Amino acid sequence: MEKGSKLATTYLDLIFHHISDLIFFIKVVDVHHYEIEAVNEAYLANYGTSKESISGRRIEDFLGVDQGMQAIRRFQEVIIRKETIHFEEGYTFPKQGYRVFEITLVPMIEGSSVSRLIGAARDITEKRINEEHMIHSEKLSVVGQLAAGIAHELRNPLTSLKGFLKLIHVKNTDQDIERYIQVMDSEFHRIEQIIDEFLILAKPQKTNFSSHGIDHILDEVIELLNGQANMKSIVLKKDYPATLPNVYCESNQIKQVFINLIKNAMEAITEDGEITVIAEEVEDMLRIKIKDNGIGIPHEELNKLGSPFYTTKESGTGLGLSICKQIIDRHQGEFCIKSKEGEGTEVTITLPKAV
Ligand code: ADP
Ligand code: MG
Repeated sequence: MEKGSKLATTYLDLIFHHISDLIFFIKVVDVHHYEIEAVNEAYLANYGTSKESISGRRIEDFLGVDQGMQAIRRFQEVIIRKETIHFEEGYTFPKQGYRVFEITLVPMIEGSSVSRLIGAARDITEKRINEEHMIHSEKLSVVGQLAAGIAHELRNPLTSLKGFLKLIHVKNTDQDIERYIQVMDSEFHRIEQIIDEFLILAKPQKTNFSSHGIDHILDEVIELLNGQANMKSIVLKKDYPATLPNVYCESNQIKQVFINLIKNAMEAITEDGEITVIAEEVEDMLRIKIKDNGIGIPHEELNKLGSPFYTTKESGTGLGLSICKQIIDRHQGEFCIKSKEGEGTEVTITLPKAV
C-alpha cells in the first residue's frame, strides 16, 4: 500500500514537471493577498526563474503590478463564484514577449472558503496567429475577386462622368457652379484612387518584372513625397548608401508599397516629426525600414493591420497595408510591423536581391 502510493506520487511528480502547460498553486491569504506556493518546470522555464526565487512571493511582486492585478481579478472571480473558470488572457514574458494563454483556474475549498487555487495555462499564441492568418488570407482572396469585378465595372461610367464634368467646366461661367465642379472633380479623383487600390488588390494584372536598383526606387519615392512632408514640417530622412543591389521586381508596385508606407507614417505624425528610410544589404536580402515617430499603434490593434478595410482614419480606405502585404508576397519578400503607442512605428520589408 505504502509502496503503491509512493509510486503514484512519483508519477504525479513526473507529470507535474514534464507537462508543457504552466501549472501553479496559489495560496489565498485573503481576497487581496495571493502567494505563489508551487509551480512546475514549464512555469519556471517560461519566466526564466528558479523555485527558490519564486515560492512564497506575492503574485503582484512576481508578475509586476499591472499583470499582477490582471491575475488577481481572475483569482477574485474564482473566490466569489467558488467554481472553476476558463478564460483566455495575454501575458508578457521577459524572453518570449507577448503570449496568449488559455487558462483554467480551479478553487480548492476548505470549510466554506477558498484556501488555494490551482491554475493551468496553455500557450495558444501560435494557434491564434494561424487562425488569424487563415481568416486574413480568406478575406483577402474574397476582396480580390470582388475588387476585380467591381473596379472594372466602375471604370467606364466614371470615365464618362469625368468627361462630361470637363465639358461643363469648359462651358460654365458661374462662380458657384465652378465650386461644385471642383468638389465633384476631387471626389471623382478619390473614387478613382479607391478603384486603383482595388485593382492592385485584385489578382495579378499584367506585370512587368525586371531588375531595378532599390536605391533609385527609394530616391524617386522620397522625391515625390518630400513636398507633402515639408508642408507638414516632417523631415524625410534617407539612411542608405548611394548604391544598393538590384531587386527583381515590378518597380511601380514596389514604389506603391513605399508610397503607402511613407504616407501612413506622415498621417501618424501629429506634430513636427521625422520619418527615416533605412536600407541595407543583409546576406542575400535587402532590408528596408520605414521608421516614424508618430502616434504608434496600440498593442491590441497590431494584429488587425493588413486586414482589408481596417482603418482608424475618417477618410481612410484601410487598403494600403493589405496592398503592401500582397505586393511583397508576390515578390517573395517579408513584411513586418513593429510599433509602440506614443513612440512610433517601424515597418520592415525584406526583398531578395536580384541574382
Ligand atoms: P488607411 O491608411 O487607409 O487607414 P492602411 O491599410 O494604410 O489604411 O492602414 C491601416 C491602419 O493602420 C491605419 O488606419 C492606422 O490606424 C494604422 N497604421 C498604419 N501605418 C501606421 C503608422 N506608421 N503609424 C501608426 N498607425 C499606422
Ligand atoms: Mg494608408
